[in-house]
Amino acid sequence: MSKPVVAIVGRPNVGKSTLFNALAGEQISIVKDTPGVTRDRIYADVEWLNHKFTLIDTGGIEPESKDIILSQMREQAQIAIDTADVIIFITDVRQGLVDADAKVADMLRRSHKPVLLVVNKVDSFKKFMTDVYEFYNLGIGDPIPVSAASQLGIGDMLDEVVKHFDEDQLEEAEDERPRIAVVGKPNVGKSSIINKLIGENRVIVSNVAGTTRDAIDTEIVWNKKPYVFIDTAGLRRKNKIKEELERYSIIRTVTAVDRADVVVVVIDATEGVTEQDAKIAGIAHERGKGIIIAVNKWDAVEKNDKTIYKYTNEIRNTLSFMPYAEIMFISAETGQRLPKLFEKIDMVLENQTLRVQTGVLNEIMTEAVALQQPPSDKGKRLKLFYITQVAVKPPTFVIFVNDKELMHFSYVRYLENKIRDTFGFQGTSLKFIIRERQ
Ligand code: GDP
Ligand code: GDP
Repeated sequence: MSKPVVAIVGRPNVGKSTLFNALAGEQISIVKDTPGVTRDRIYADVEWLNHKFTLIDTGGIEPESKDIILSQMREQAQIAIDTADVIIFITDVRQGLVDADAKVADMLRRSHKPVLLVVNKVDSFKKFMTDVYEFYNLGIGDPIPVSAASQLGIGDMLDEVVKHFDEDQLEEAEDERPRIAVVGKPNVGKSSIINKLIGENRVIVSNVAGTTRDAIDTEIVWNKKPYVFIDTAGLRRKNKIKEELERYSIIRTVTAVDRADVVVVVIDATEGVTEQDAKIAGIAHERGKGIIIAVNKWDAVEKNDKTIYKYTNEIRNTLSFMPYAEIMFISAETGQRLPKLFEKIDMVLENQTLRVQTGVLNEIMTEAVALQQPPSDKGKRLKLFYITQVAVKPPTFVIFVNDKELMHFSYVRYLENKIRDTFGFQGTSLKFIIRERQ
């Protein structure tokens, strides 16, 4: 189930962040943001009238000088063209039409992607509407007046956005082949891994139907079974600005992870696990995907009998929010343990779709409660009535209790561990929803 991607593009100070926050924040109740480890406002999950989409803000750091504004805008527009299904091109009624707007509009028009021309800071329709008409000159359709700051016209704008969603894209869900995203920082060896797998397998480079983005999908057959690998390394940009490069790499990761069943997070063994690795892994975690951590370049590490233990510990510490992740040590260079990667992928796929019978779950819960008393507060003790699994990908459980406030995070973790003791669920997060029942 691939979610559409909507990108915001525009000059500095036209109100990109304000619009992004209006759509992503909790200020208006119609939209919501996934809680997660990544606090960056580069992307957000938005819902509008039963349409879910991923919103990305392509605008990065403030440009230092006027003459680089245009080149930076082109860069942003290119990212949007590469990754988005619908582009929101935002302009500013108070600054009026400027030359850079026209140049970027040309570029967007040539891409043949759906583009919405949004004119921001129209805080009063009466006062500014005549100025809005000027934007027809851009030749990219009807300008949509909004005020991001006072949240005017946002609903009409979203109606237009969702009209452009391509229903064909949902067909990807009917494709039975497992989709694997290979993600990680630049230079960890993502391309090398995929190339090595391609070299050792019969490969059909496929244009998966419904894929409107630039992710490069490769079908790799292993044990007579096809897998679709989504490569995020494929396209490289000659970008000089480090922050922009990082933003681009995060955007690529989010859009690839969205489409994947299992995510292989590649870490460079010669560097060890870093905060940036954690950020990337967090994207897969908060989206409930199957996760395998592949420590690559294992051939280049000097080892003794404690090395694997030391690496495992470091990874578990830095990625403490995902203790369930599978870890493996590989080398794209020598091919060490690469066939094992497919075994792990199969196992994680199985765990993502595993369903546990309600009877068995309740036995586990009853036993767990007998072993460790549930928490209490001010003389009132938590009672757990019933547990049942309501979804897969990721496996999701509803627990009915007497009082939600009494359910402590650590007790949920305790129950999770008890379920994992029996069923493993390696490589997949588990989701718990707590409901009250009298
Ligand atoms: P960005 O650089 O494109 O991300 O722009 P920002 O979102 O940071 O906004 C730039 C400035 O415009 C800020 O001072 C905002 O408060 C202001 N702004 C944003 N939206 C509106 C709006 O709808 N009306 C008015 N009057 N000001 C706005
Ligand atoms: P990407 O940016 O993540 O796609 O990384 P690349 O696949 O381009 O690899 C970056 C560099 O690491 C290249 O110089 C590779 O030759 C090297 N590299 C990749 N995998 C391995 C490996 O398993 N062992 C060693 N020693 N080097 C590797």
